[in-house]
Amino acid sequence: MRACQLHSPAPVDDSPLVWSEVDVPKPGDVEVGIRVHACGICRTDLHIVEGELAVLRSPVIPGHQVVGTIDTLGASARRFPLGQRVGVAWLHRTCGRCRFCTSGRENLCDEPAFTGWTVDGGYAEYVIAPEAFVYPIPDGFADLEAAPLLCAGIIGFRSLRLSGIGKGARLGLIGFGAAAHVAIQVARHWGVEVYAVTRHAPHRELARSLGAVWAGSAADEVPERLDAAILFAPAGDLVPAALGMLDKGGVLVLGGIHMSPTPPLDYSLLYHERVIRSVANNTRADGEDFLRVAGEIPIRTEIEVFPLREANRALQALKHDRVRGAAVLRVHDAA
Ligand SMILES: [Zn+2]
Ligand SMILES: [Zn+2]
Repeated sequence: MRACQLHSPAPVDDSPLVWSEVDVPKPGDVEVGIRVHACGICRTDLHIVEGELAVLRSPVIPGHQVVGTIDTLGASARRFPLGQRVGVAWLHRTCGRCRFCTSGRENLCDEPAFTGWTVDGGYAEYVIAPEAFVYPIPDGFADLEAAPLLCAGIIGFRSLRLSGIGKGARLGLIGFGAAAHVAIQVARHWGVEVYAVTRHAPHRELARSLGAVWAGSAADEVPERLDAAILFAPAGDLVPAALGMLDKGGVLVLGGIHMSPTPPLDYSLLYHERVIRSVANNTRADGEDFLRVAGEIPIRTEIEVFPLREANRALQALKHDRVRGAAVLRVHDAA
């Protein structure tokens, strides 16, 4: 099969992904083999390709927002029929035994595997995954439109949950890329007022078109004190500014797996019971709940499509903030 492989991390402008011919992976006992139709591009892929995350498998095929159809079944795989459309997300597998797995916190598993980082992912024509960690994709989404739901969508949803917001609350979304453009639709559905903070005018325009009551840059004063904010940009220097937007008791959620260093904090920014917390991965329940809600709303994703072999170009576009919404790779027969 054809795949984009990473042999050694490098700046994405040097096109480190290599267009390669590799063997089609064979599913293990309780795994399924999936014919990939579409794979979303995530900022985490950029951190892997550029080496901000440690190399845990080499070479590795990145990509953890896979939509495809089940093509082969492991000997004991029974959950899905051949031909079923499914998605594969970042959480590839957990141990099922550690104290996090056994207390409803499998996102914090001590021995996890991650798609496109510790195991091969979806920048390829085929991928394998444990059947228990695969999600049916709701009808009503085309393959390409569904791909960004699998990380941008699920992690955005978990971030919203951890922010504690509800109807009538005021939420800031800082950085307005793939995750924020899905999260705003869920937040609006819940009756939340959304304030978007991004330095890019086209992203502010997208935020307004999706129902933000206000959109500005970090230099502008947000017109209201916020109950919560989610920082999607991997920029630690925005943490003090984000805290400064919160009302008393407000929650700041850090949505990324990697972030540049945070400067020293003036305690007055944190006092009055403000909270800073990170989001790490997601549970399968987050994924299942989000995909159900996404189908009910229904979420509409803005996508920019690239051919599989141009994954380097797609990552370059993401790095330089040239993607409106989410970038997605088209693989087999993507609808
Ligand atoms: Zn575990
Ligand atoms: Zn991701």
